[in-house]
Amino acid sequence: MNAVAPKISFVSLGCPKALVDSERIITSLRSEGYELSKSHAGADLVIVNTCGFLDSAKAESLEAIGAAMSENGKVIVTGCMGAEPEQIRDAFPNVLAITGPQAYESVVSAVHQAVPPRHDPFVDLVPDHGIKLTPRHYAYLKISEGCNNRCSFCIIPKLRGDLVSRPIGEVLREAEKLVKAGVKELLVISQDTSAYGLDIKYAPSMWQDREVRTRFFELARELGQMGIWVRMHYVYPYPHVDEVIPLMQEGLILPYLDIPFQHASPNVLKAMKRPAHQDRTLDRLRKWREICPDLAIRSTFIVGFPGETEEDVQFLIDWLKEAKLERVGCFKYEPVKGAPANDLGLALVPEEEKEARWHRFMKAQAEISTRIVKNRVGKRISVIIDEAGPTVAKGRSKWDAPEIDGNVYVASRRPLRAGDIVTVKIERADAYDLHGVAV
Ligand code: SF4
Repeated sequence: MNAVAPKISFVSLGCPKALVDSERIITSLRSEGYELSKSHAGADLVIVNTCGFLDSAKAESLEAIGAAMSENGKVIVTGCMGAEPEQIRDAFPNVLAITGPQAYESVVSAVHQAVPPRHDPFVDLVPDHGIKLTPRHYAYLKISEGCNNRCSFCIIPKLRGDLVSRPIGEVLREAEKLVKAGVKELLVISQDTSAYGLDIKYAPSMWQDREVRTRFFELARELGQMGIWVRMHYVYPYPHVDEVIPLMQEGLILPYLDIPFQHASPNVLKAMKRPAHQDRTLDRLRKWREICPDLAIRSTFIVGFPGETEEDVQFLIDWLKEAKLERVGCFKYEPVKGAPANDLGLALVPEEEKEARWHRFMKAQAEISTRIVKNRVGKRISVIIDEAGPTVAKGRSKWDAPEIDGNVYVASRRPLRAGDIVTVKIERADAYDLHGVAV
């Protein structure tokens, strides 16, 4: 794996509509691990979002493309001038791709072709979409880069450095533009979302006409005012997370927390050097559910970490049965090149044993999930539609993030479109998915 994230330089010309497109392209690329470069020369690729409204705007666009060609050479052109590609091709036959206005998907595909995203399950925050792009009705909002923790199985701090938070004003403006562009659900991501702002001492920045601190709670509160679904990923159970639970109960943000616990046994957590690991986590979960009974917690775990014993596995499974987490994923430990865990000198767990532990874990969780999912039968819930269908549309509940959690299959007499939020009466459930009728 290349240690350096691909860098994109971006020039945005033109009207507010073009800016919204630029924002959408940048958000999408940022969520896939691309970084923005301040100069063309230091970038792997340049995107020029052009304006072709007046002759002077066309001239300015051609000039910007010319500068990008000479300073970098790898250039993708989009925006209004892209509607007349001949003019651009005549002047610059070597541009990599030309796409028209409001075609953010084609720009992002062109970037993937020229500088492929480096999908690595150990590093990436978003699921591997392959060639599929985030639909227009939801978007990932990346609030920071890097991480101050030093989990022993992880090389992200080495690759991406320490936490660098984006000022909250900038993040909220990006969110606002996405909402104006039709996004109905924002998925907040970073390596450690609850640590947001720590590196800049929670510095205030301007948002609308007031100062807002760059902090997890303020971020949740402000995003919660935007009238869309807001989902929080990669949250660690630090004490201040308690503050956002009432916002979930009030319906400002979704009653959903993605907390990568990774394990429950204190010995393993210590060897993993996990942040905020404490034996009172179960108490915290209980307290959160008292405040917001609707809360769904999703998590991931690793079995077979070096030094993990039979007792540790049993502890984890007993913990899981008590925690009753709604959505859970589990990985078998794989050493990552360069990670400190390789030098801990702990006994490696044999492959067959990892496999056996994984099956035990999954079996225990399947029983828990099935019970939780079955409890939803007969209820009326809100569902966001992801894919329209002739008779049955595919969507998600508030407790399901795209790609990683379950689906709700919705039968409806009226046609449903992607991005619609509808009330659905749940009629049946299978292991992970729900089936119901739009009411
Ligand atoms: S919290 Fe741990 S696992 Fe997550 S990015 Fe930071 S060091 Fe890696």
